[in-house]
Amino acid sequence: MIDKINPYDVVKTQIDIVAKEIGLDPNVTEYLKRIERALIVSIPIKMDNGSLQIFEGYRVHHSTVRGPGKGGMRYSPHVYLDEVKALATWMTWKTSLLNLPLGGAKGGVRVDPRELSKKELERLTRRYTAEIINVIGPDIDIPAPDVNTNAQIMAWMMDTYSMQKGRSIPGVVTGKPIEIGGSVGRQAATGTGLFFVLQALCEKLDLDLKHLKIVIQGFGNVGFTIADLLNKHGCKVIAVSDVSTGIYYENGLDIEKLAAWTKQGKYLKDFKDDNYTLISNDELLTSKCDVLIPAAIENQITRVNADKIASKIVLEGANGPTTPDADKILFKKGIHVVPDILANSGGVCVSYFEYIQDINSYFWKLDRINEELKRIIIEAFEETFKISKERKISLRTAAYVIAVSRIAKAIELRGIFP
Ligand code: GLU
Repeated sequence: MIDKINPYDVVKTQIDIVAKEIGLDPNVTEYLKRIERALIVSIPIKMDNGSLQIFEGYRVHHSTVRGPGKGGMRYSPHVYLDEVKALATWMTWKTSLLNLPLGGAKGGVRVDPRELSKKELERLTRRYTAEIINVIGPDIDIPAPDVNTNAQIMAWMMDTYSMQKGRSIPGVVTGKPIEIGGSVGRQAATGTGLFFVLQALCEKLDLDLKHLKIVIQGFGNVGFTIADLLNKHGCKVIAVSDVSTGIYYENGLDIEKLAAWTKQGKYLKDFKDDNYTLISNDELLTSKCDVLIPAAIENQITRVNADKIASKIVLEGANGPTTPDADKILFKKGIHVVPDILANSGGVCVSYFEYIQDINSYFWKLDRINEELKRIIIEAFEETFKISKERKISLRTAAYVIAVSRIAKAIELRGIFP
């Protein structure tokens, strides 16, 4: 069954593919398929009605070989350990591909945050932080926002950690509000990075960015930011979706109106416009367009629907949206899949800038953030594109060649303790 695909199995298959491509030592291959450590915690919360509910939370370090763990934390009723292990591993490749001095980590709590009051959400976040306090810190592992988490949640995490340590430690998390040590440009960073990468790919493919038709799955921070940027550059965003529905208009949706709607916590299915058609998730993913941007969750493009994908480019805003089976089909069809670890790496890149700004207590202007983000992400793109051409492999495998080789080299140089 497709909806039972385990993202950690996907991770292992991806490692096998790159191991074969670069002739990786089988011992290192096995090592990379393991995580360094995982912490599972119970989070008891007194609910507003006086009852007690216990939630399950996770924090996983896949690799700290190249630096402290780094990666987001998500709130989702579906999150489970193997998913967090997969997401932590993808963070290792992402930081390595960008050559940031960081490792890979991820966290999550199995909860539907829409069902909690703001106070309950705060208690949950604080208790989760207290439970994982020994495995996070500016030189251990630095969480950040991910699916259903945001700057306010980072502020509560930072405050809880700081209260326990007896001093303010902004560098324990990134994606914080700017007023307490966050970085300008961080909120938009993932979308901005997607835009830079798409711009660079369009140049290579001789496509005019201004005339592209775009379909976006997901309308959270990432989906909205890239929709907004592309819309402002003259592209037509013909479909977007949230958990309730997809919404389609071939002349281009009014992104600002839709965003004003969803920012009030309303679902797209309730948005009224006579020109717009509601479509299913499958219809959205297989709509004819130039660029399909999956910006929601894992396992969306699988062997079941890959053959029906009708775009020239798939730009992965989400982590793990395409399975290895689907990758093969898309490659054969000549569709350019810009892999998650490259396409959506703008978020962690600006997280890194936030972290070093916090450590130095010196803050940059937006121009500098975007300039350095562009430089780093485009360098990774150029290198990936070159390797994919030279070796006649997909952009994903090419990105893995770079990321995994760097980790393997670090392991070799450090050696195995003791
Ligand atoms: N959650 C984002 C990602 O998956 C950002 C992680 C970070 O900034 O540490 O890349």
